[in-house]
Amino acid sequence: MSTHPLIDSLRPPVATILDTLATAEARYCLGEATTFEPAKIHAAWPDIFRPDTVTALRTAGLADGAGRPFVGLVLQALIEAETAPLHAGIAEREKAVTVTDANGTRMDLARARRLAARDAAAPRDHLHELYDREVAPLWLEAQQRRLAVVTAAGYRDLIDYADRVQRHDLGRLEREARGFLDSTRVRYESIRRPLFAAGPFTVAQLIGAARTTFADPVDLATCLPLLRLLVSELGLEFAPRIRLDLEARPGKVPGAYCLPVRVPDDIVVAVSAGGGVGDCRPLFHEVGHALHFAYTGSELPVDCRRMGDEGLVEGWGVVTENIFLHRGWLDRSFPGRTATALGHDTAQRLLIVTRAQCVRLLFAVDAARRPTTPAELRARYDQLMAEHLGARPGPIEYLDVLCGDFVSATRLRSWEFGTSVAHLLAHEIGPDWPGDPRAGRWLREHWRVGVSHTATEAIDRWAAPQVSLEAVAENLADNMINS
Ligand SMILES: [Zn+2]
Repeated sequence: MSTHPLIDSLRPPVATILDTLATAEARYCLGEATTFEPAKIHAAWPDIFRPDTVTALRTAGLADGAGRPFVGLVLQALIEAETAPLHAGIAEREKAVTVTDANGTRMDLARARRLAARDAAAPRDHLHELYDREVAPLWLEAQQRRLAVVTAAGYRDLIDYADRVQRHDLGRLEREARGFLDSTRVRYESIRRPLFAAGPFTVAQLIGAARTTFADPVDLATCLPLLRLLVSELGLEFAPRIRLDLEARPGKVPGAYCLPVRVPDDIVVAVSAGGGVGDCRPLFHEVGHALHFAYTGSELPVDCRRMGDEGLVEGWGVVTENIFLHRGWLDRSFPGRTATALGHDTAQRLLIVTRAQCVRLLFAVDAARRPTTPAELRARYDQLMAEHLGARPGPIEYLDVLCGDFVSATRLRSWEFGTSVAHLLAHEIGPDWPGDPRAGRWLREHWRVGVSHTATEAIDRWAAPQVSLEAVAENLADNMINS
């Protein structure tokens, strides 16, 4: 933990800023406020959110070490300030420009895009033209401004920024993604081929069509008691730090998410039940985040409590989500036929999702290296989707990926981390580690340090199995029923 005077001087204001942001976000997500505008909160701290902060950290030799979380925070805010007007412009155009579907119904671009993302048979060619003309230039301008902010701060390009500030190691991930796509191709094709001919489907449609139906109920009502049992068997507790907010209500943002309002003292896990297994795995994932935050040492400075490597933060969610890939736990939690089907369904879904994220990563890295016109970028993305998934992307998916700040890298790293930690626990505690209080003690001890290391540093320090997507692929294969 750094005690450099510059870092020490940044910690108190940054702690206040992050608490203010988290409180505002939680109020918005839980339906207690109608807006969440981080830019306004950033604007109240002009002394922190300016290029000089990054320069000072660099001059002090801290930008790649203890100062990295602060560099990331400041640059993210500067990027948001630069790109917010463009994003507002995109939203306006998506509402203002309208299209007519095959039945003669007029709708705005945003709605047409959502329909096309769900249904590859929706008319797309005209949408592409409209997007290329009306919207893509704004997206690409946003990407240019993002690049301008990071190069002005001394990074070579977006890849250099992602590697040094976000710690993605994109070159390694590219190799891992290629390896994963190769080694899981046959299995993927065995899922895809019976459901869709190559071409006229989207990944969302494939996931929907591949979904298993279970002989016994698998929903929030069955999984919540299982989660409570798991947590208590591990010797862990929700109260008093973690609140579960599981009711759907008007104004509450739908989906599953964890809101670390105060780390470690006030953590909310929110799920708006949609029915079925789709509520369960996300609930376990979010509770992984919540437990990590709630068991983080309260004495740690802000940068070790809540400004960490996203791959590590997400990875802890994967550790608990992947309980749905643990044979022993599945077998003692569900009737036999459902236990097997649930493991299979979880693995199959994750296989499709991971392949899609591999494609996104390859595309995003390539586009950062070789920028070009919207039409050419779209063609490259379509080509990768066709080659590795046999699917068709939604109309501006490629722009979403491009401007998505390498989210795919975070996702891929989190699956690697979650898989490595599960192997370590199986080795240190035994194959039946879920529900073993010794595993709970191990987790508590490793959560205590919060986010004071990156995912890779943690794996090295604990001598856990090396992170790799090949290990993720093997874990998935172990759970799939061969057909
Ligand atoms: Zn998560």
